[in-house]
Amino acid sequence: MASVHLHNLIKRYEKNGMNVVNSINLSIEDGEFMVLVGPSGCGKSTTLRMIAGLESVSDGDIYIGEKIVNDVPPKQRDISMVFQNYALYPNMSVYENMAFGMRLRKTEKHIMDSSVKQSSRVLEIEHLLERKPRQLSGGQRQRVALGRALVRQPQVFLLDEPLSNLDARLRVQMRTEIVELHRQLATTTIYVTHDQIEAMTMGTRICIMKSGTIQQVGTPEEVYTRP
Ligand code: ADP
Ligand code: ADP
Repeated sequence: MASVHLHNLIKRYEKNGMNVVNSINLSIEDGEFMVLVGPSGCGKSTTLRMIAGLESVSDGDIYIGEKIVNDVPPKQRDISMVFQNYALYPNMSVYENMAFGMRLRKTEKHIMDSSVKQSSRVLEIEHLLERKPRQLSGGQRQRVALGRALVRQPQVFLLDEPLSNLDARLRVQMRTEIVELHRQLATTTIYVTHDQIEAMTMGTRICIMKSGTIQQVGTPEEVYTRP
């Protein structure tokens, strides 16, 4: 586990010339479940992608633990990210999808097997390991995407609108499952959504963003209770 600190973090695209992330400061503690919430275009995803290293930092610093990671490549950040579109490989089985990252790193077969087994047990997808993504339901696919991210036992877990492609019933069910998963693993988690209900029901703390800035940070009670 690790904390994440954003210090005067800025993202500027030369094209539009404005700061889409405008000098934000945010501390996410070890084991916390932080939700970034706000309207479409407010900079949530850009912030998350900078933390993952998928987007460069224009100014400011990102700390993971004690270390500034601005120039550390994504694969060396000890972070896993889950996307809205699952990003599963269609021609690989569930097992192969989950083991892919470890295979690239030439992990030994027995370690790969036991890691996949452990994650698939937590997510209750053990019986699906031989299937291809097209043979799975939406909810099962999203569980595999979570499993793929979890097998690496990352220090930080990033989720970018992971439930927005699911139907309403499944979305509610998966909310509970992700919170339960976090309760079990206690991995530092940053979760992006535009859905206030999702933010309120999932986060241990919530960070409300607007136009590239942070409006408010606090527990669900603090943020959504009006005096
Ligand atoms: P959110 O995740 O909150 O919906 P984003 O972080 O995706 O918002 O986008 C923030 C702003 O940055 C938006 O105005 C978007 O149009 C802009 N943006 C995102 N990617 C690029 C890019 N590659 N070039 C220029 N502007 C971009
Ligand atoms: P690994 O399983 O080791 O993360 P991948 O090849 O799946 O290896 O991913 C390499 C990097 O690219 C990771 O940091 C991951 O977060 C990122 N990545 C994976 N899928 C996508 C995607 N669909 N869009 C953007 N980045 C992605």
